[in-house]
Amino acid sequence: MAVRRQTFRLYPNKGQEAKLLQARRDHAYLYNACIAHRKYEWKANRKSVSYLEQQNCLPAYKKEWVEFAYLHSQALQATVKRVDLAYNAFFQGLRKPPKFKSIRKFSGWTYPATSGWKANTSLKHGSVNLNDLGIKIKMRGQAKQWGKPTTLTIVYKPGLKQWFASFTVEIPEVIAKFGSQSELAYNSIVAFDLGCETAITTYNGTDVEQISHPRFTQKTEAKIKKASKELRRKQAPNRNKKIKASRRWKKANKRVAKLLSLAGTQRRDWQHKVTSEIASRYDIGVTEQLNTRGMTKKAKKGSKRKKQKAGLNKSILSVGFGTLNKMLTYKIEVKGGLMIMLPTKDVKPSQRCPKCGAVHSCWAELSNRHHLCPSCGFDVPRDAGSTMVMYNVVTKAQPGLGTSLDSLGCLSSTSRTSKRKNTGSMKQLGQVRRQKSNRTAEPGETPSACAAG
Ligand SMILES: [Zn+2]
Repeated sequence: MAVRRQTFRLYPNKGQEAKLLQARRDHAYLYNACIAHRKYEWKANRKSVSYLEQQNCLPAYKKEWVEFAYLHSQALQATVKRVDLAYNAFFQGLRKPPKFKSIRKFSGWTYPATSGWKANTSLKHGSVNLNDLGIKIKMRGQAKQWGKPTTLTIVYKPGLKQWFASFTVEIPEVIAKFGSQSELAYNSIVAFDLGCETAITTYNGTDVEQISHPRFTQKTEAKIKKASKELRRKQAPNRNKKIKASRRWKKANKRVAKLLSLAGTQRRDWQHKVTSEIASRYDIGVTEQLNTRGMTKKAKKGSKRKKQKAGLNKSILSVGFGTLNKMLTYKIEVKGGLMIMLPTKDVKPSQRCPKCGAVHSCWAELSNRHHLCPSCGFDVPRDAGSTMVMYNVVTKAQPGLGTSLDSLGCLSSTSRTSKRKNTGSMKQLGQVRRQKSNRTAEPGETPSACAAG
């Protein structure tokens, strides 16, 4: 079973919205109460409260605070779980300690199982029933695929005053067309590389295609910059000084929120278009295992290239390397194809000459946009060269590397999907966080002086 997230926009009427806002307020209250509980126990008794203890408090809590009794018990548990996750991240040194959340910043709540709600849709539009609030809300939107919905998260965007229903949906897995890697059909393989100068470079054995970055992100960014400058000049609210927001501030705030949301929509739209187009043409995708987290790390303290690194990070994040990879993977998988992730460290696609296989470590430097092989004279632009290497590795035509894919330890999408069965569950979310903290910093491929060049 594959799990997808599908989001619809909700259109509550006035009475329904009042109930939604009340539920959101109550969940925010519970969230803050859980934090207060933990803080108090730690301060007073040096005792750290566990999730289970807090969860077991819930029935008594509901008896004491009858205004919470109407909310779905599993949804309340999920909110308690959010506090637990925030604390776990803090204990692992990934985040700052959890803070009390203002209602203004509280996004919503989750129904972590199939009870308490019902989605009435087959693919397009429809409605959703929330049993604990006793309402049926109209929703609009279209899911790419629909199956058995398993969890529901209600999301509120305060700046835009919009409501969303975000479902996780179980979709029956498509059986891969290609049984094992030794039987790869070579006719429609594409190797792709994500880069900062050209967003995506693809190579299918004969042609190199380059897809450039969308211009609109920069345009929208300029608008956002201007709008937020105007926002700063208006009277912002300050609750400590008891200053209310001016009407102009509220207007400007809404404008910024709208622009930010526009930037997100534009980016997602572009990502979907580009990845759908590639996935429609090829059955097998090849790329390298990306480490976006390491790539977008902050520059070291005192580094002269701090600004440069910040700019690079921005362009990596604005295209969304991770999302592009994920989208391509699932879109190829959906049609029964295969995605192969090559281990960067062993293959070294950006340092290897696609023609003779010689590795030139000086090619690793990002400023080296064009590669001229000192060993065989092969001349190729950087991104195109690395896609050629990846393509050659999969088709077993790359000189200087072993012919067995398995010996390289590459990940294929089929081996990966078998591992992630419960994507999106609270348990898994916790595991992901744990993995992140355990991962030790890998030494990057340091550019060294090139002996041959
Ligand atoms: Zn060469």
